Amino acid sequence: MSDLLDVITNLAKRRGFVFPSSEIYGGLASTWDYGPVGVELKRNVKEQWWRSMVQCRDDVVGLDAAILMAPDVWEASGHLATFTDPLVDCTVCKRRFRADQLDDRDCPNNKKGCEFTEAREFNLMFKTFLGPVEDDTHVVYLRPETAQGIFVNFPNVVTTSRRKPPFGIAQIGKSFRNEITPGKFTFRTREFEQMEMEFFVPPEQAGEWFEYWVEERRRWYVELGMKPERLRIRPHEQDELSHYSSETVDVEYEFPWGWGELEGIANRGDYDLRQHGEHSGKDLSYYDQPNERRYLPHVIEPAAGCDRATLAFLMDAYDEEEVRGEKRVVLRLDHRLAPVKIAVLPLSKNPDLVPVARKIADDLRQLTMVDYDETQAIGRRYRRQDELGTPFAVTVDFETLEDQAVTIRERDSMVQVRVPISAVGEELGRRLQA
Ligand code: ATP
Repeated sequence: MSDLLDVITNLAKRRGFVFPSSEIYGGLASTWDYGPVGVELKRNVKEQWWRSMVQCRDDVVGLDAAILMAPDVWEASGHLATFTDPLVDCTVCKRRFRADQLDDRDCPNNKKGCEFTEAREFNLMFKTFLGPVEDDTHVVYLRPETAQGIFVNFPNVVTTSRRKPPFGIAQIGKSFRNEITPGKFTFRTREFEQMEMEFFVPPEQAGEWFEYWVEERRRWYVELGMKPERLRIRPHEQDELSHYSSETVDVEYEFPWGWGELEGIANRGDYDLRQHGEHSGKDLSYYDQPNERRYLPHVIEPAAGCDRATLAFLMDAYDEEEVRGEKRVVLRLDHRLAPVKIAVLPLSKNPDLVPVARKIADDLRQLTMVDYDETQAIGRRYRRQDELGTPFAVTVDFETLEDQAVTIRERDSMVQVRVPISAVGEELGRRLQA
């Protein structure tokens, strides 16, 4: 399956996971839209992240900060000065590349040794203007990470949430980076969604919390079904570390083109609160009453990409097998991630079957995401649901009219069992929880 990227890109388009953006106008480079099933998959990824990071914990609260922030934020955070990538031009084909991504001096476009210009630092932040006047005093930036919205709200959250370090603030939202070389489907785009959490700790506890979050975050992917052998933790080399970080690891997934970052976990020290304290003139330290001491909390940051996680889950779940001499494509997605949980399929469009099937679908909709489908032959409908990763199909056939029972087919084993209509909701509810 060396062409898995093409296979997934095609499946995504064909089944409604991901479409090229603005497609009727020829598309916009490296920009993608999530279709009817893609939006469900991505929502489920976010939902599971929120559940594990916020809902199931007593020590993390949520936030939803604005994308536009005061430009001073980016001055203080260092993004205006240092959020850059080294840009080189190929003098032959005129294309631009990130100098640090060129393996050797061969141009990835011409595939031969070309002359490159000297590297220039290119700032990745998107600029725009606030209000109708387009001059330097009205410049604002689309945030390149969600983290800064968390840091500047640290005092607000401390005073309103009654939390004290160690505690975290989590946020999911869009970020924008004017990447020099986007690509590989949704892996690297210029508009993407992040799932970030800043965990504020007493300085002396930073080391142990860093270890804790590395393991916790690795576990999250595995627990949601990602194959452990395709995941690795890669510590950053000294010369790779960001200006604010004393220690960083990447959680990487083995994509068809090699290992790629899903998430970075960094020990940011007190860098961010110190910078914002100094630039804003506000005291962002924490007063630890029982110990009568004041300190700037240190921060451990697990920063994940929602689109990358979604792509990795999709690729990881993809499977092909032969069933009775025919190829079956199936997405073996964890039930919690599957876009559609139950398909309700009348054996045919027969007017006696359709109302029964529709009623079952309507009832099950109260429970979870359901797809009702009466078109085409039943075999083709099963195959379509397999390609969506739908864990269960409920089939209504002519026997149903006699025995008031339906067939439940399980996606992975394809085992079918007969269940009374009155028990379908409970049975599927139980199996979806398992
Ligand atoms: P990379 O080295 O791949 O550019 P990064 O180290 O700059 O990533 P971070 O700043 O650590 O990325 O951002 C945290 C997460 O946000 C990344 O692990 C990734 O999942 C996601 N992310 C960052 N940039 C992009 C992008 N251009 N497209 C999609 N997701 C992204």
